[in-house]
Amino acid sequence: MAIYDEPMDYLQLIDGELRPSRNGQWIDSVNPATGQVWARIPAGGAEDIDDAIRAAKSALDSWRALPAASRAALLRSWAATVRENLDTLWRLDATDNGRARREAEPAIAGAASQIEFHAGLAETITGDTVLVSDSATTYSVREPFGVVGLIIPWNAPLAMFLAKVSAAIAAGNTIVVKPPERASVSVLVAAQLLEKAGIPRGVVNVVTGEGSSAGEALVRHPDVRKISFTGSTATGRRITENSVANIKSLALELGGKSPNIVFADADLDQAADVVAAGIYTASAGQACIAGSRILVEEAIFVDFVERLRSRASAMVLGNPLDSRTDMGPLAFDGQYDKVREYLESGRQEGATLAFGGRCGSELFTPESPLREGYFVEPTLFLTEDPQLRVCQEEIFGPVAVAMPFADEADAVRLANDSGYGLAAGVWTQNLSRALRLTRRLEAGTVWVNTYRRLHWALPFGGQKESGTGTSNGPTTLDEWLEHKSVWIEHG
Ligand code: NAD
Repeated sequence: MAIYDEPMDYLQLIDGELRPSRNGQWIDSVNPATGQVWARIPAGGAEDIDDAIRAAKSALDSWRALPAASRAALLRSWAATVRENLDTLWRLDATDNGRARREAEPAIAGAASQIEFHAGLAETITGDTVLVSDSATTYSVREPFGVVGLIIPWNAPLAMFLAKVSAAIAAGNTIVVKPPERASVSVLVAAQLLEKAGIPRGVVNVVTGEGSSAGEALVRHPDVRKISFTGSTATGRRITENSVANIKSLALELGGKSPNIVFADADLDQAADVVAAGIYTASAGQACIAGSRILVEEAIFVDFVERLRSRASAMVLGNPLDSRTDMGPLAFDGQYDKVREYLESGRQEGATLAFGGRCGSELFTPESPLREGYFVEPTLFLTEDPQLRVCQEEIFGPVAVAMPFADEADAVRLANDSGYGLAAGVWTQNLSRALRLTRRLEAGTVWVNTYRRLHWALPFGGQKESGTGTSNGPTTLDEWLEHKSVWIEHG
């Protein structure tokens, strides 16, 4: 099942060296498809973070002084090594967090292309000449922050690492990365490819460990000028509090509870395929942009729920490494417990269970090694009460809730009735209505007649409590650059 028979130890990358943690402690990585320990990662802490920041500081001057074309060439070479090792990398990622091959492999291949996109942008960093006085030459330049910190979650650790690190270093920063304690292995292995690509030591450092130790030490460190964080809204709040002491710049990509709105005039077969995929096969619902609230026009509510049921019942739960698998397990035991708690909460609050709800050993034969895995089948609750916990809180699992709406105004009201504002989907053949909704929905991304389509050339970010800052898009390096104005008085 696992790709290695005996659990292997993986090491942190600090100043170009592979190192265990200073305290000598380890964290077990469990394969969520089997519940078995398959690897160990260092339980890094504040001392390792200090070492990594020191290395990033020493590497900074020469890295930012490199001509942009040289930085770009090194990034392209990194992308090439990622592609050469794609097969190993997606397997490590999928073994660690249970993401099915269908998702894990293209995500990492896409991230290699994103590194190349950022390489191109490195050569386009410009400033502005703004002549404010006849006696002076005045202009602005954009400069890297310096040493920056990156904290990432477990649902797509490697793709996020590749995408964000490449943007940060393309802009001339050096970086310390704290990957997720539940799924760090693929990041540690990909970090080793930096040296092969010729990226100098200390430019990228990776310290593994718990958020409460290594993560907090990175956020509180006075020499870190910016933190880019992707994770839950609760941790985003904590990071905001901890970064106040040194007024750090923050970019926060947080949670979501995204509505997928289906009108009666939509192509219902296509909508059912994509709406079901958007919450179930999409990393078993462990995606920030999962379409977890399905809003359906009253006239087709019963019919559409039946269409979703038929899609869900055809989905194959299984070994994430198998290309026939549609849905892997949840990423770790704590997430499994959390999702099961929401299954209970939905029932207790009075939502109707339309389908699903079974977990773990209920889903596999007695002989199957997957019985001990953290599997939850595609589940749908129905309710008319948008205030239930299952309608308001991010579950981060294959559990959706469907609610009926009366008309367009009602759909917008229900869709926006959330603290989150990450994404939304609209299904209709009425172009005027679709365009009106793209303006009224409170979301960083709105899809019409499709869902969960991202591209590195299109900006991505959250509104409301889904975060601040924008990644991707032609201006993505702006996240990693500061403005400086220069005023030369010459008379
Ligand atoms: P999390 O907030 O628990 O952890 C994310 C990272 O933060 C981990 O590396 C963790 O170790 C670290 N961390 C935890 N506490 C910390 C602290 N006090 N200081 C510094 N670092 C700390 O999130 P998660 O459970 O790993 O990921 C799931 C969440 O991520 C979901 O809410 C999901 O919506 C969100 N997410 C958002 C996006 C987006 O682009 N908006 C993308 C993916 C995931």
